Amino acid sequence: MSETSPSIFTKILTREIPAEILFENERVFAIRDIAPQAPLHLLVIPKTQDYANVTELALGSPELLAEIVATGHNLATLHSNGEYRLVFNTGTSAGQTVFHVHAHVLSGALEEHTLA
Ligand code: 5GP
Repeated sequence: MSETSPSIFTKILTREIPAEILFENERVFAIRDIAPQAPLHLLVIPKTQDYANVTELALGSPELLAEIVATGHNLATLHSNGEYRLVFNTGTSAGQTVFHVHAHVLSGALEEHTLA
């Protein structure tokens, strides 16, 4: 919502906060997680911060959710072996800390790592 203050991901998108941005188009962007929990740990994020979590996104824009999944697949293919775990932490007690929906894309040697 326009009256909401920018999320940390919006600040990354507007380059107020530095991050390694691996992909960007009109609707989504992807960054490396600052605290990786797998050899490849990316976040795929819609540019809009209108959706706080994946439930809201699925109800409000299933096309955007599908694009996030497709982007995660493409980046896991480009930067790893194309096999990956897709995680949407939903709610504080489930580990969500940023309430601007984002997909964790985890790939490579996952058996050595715990979930995001
Ligand atoms: P959540 O806990 O909400 O599911 O995921 C938030 C993720 O954002 C965490 O994995 C955390 O490491 C990552 N994160 C938080 N702040 C930053 C930042 O400034 N830069 C980057 N690249 N990742 C961040």
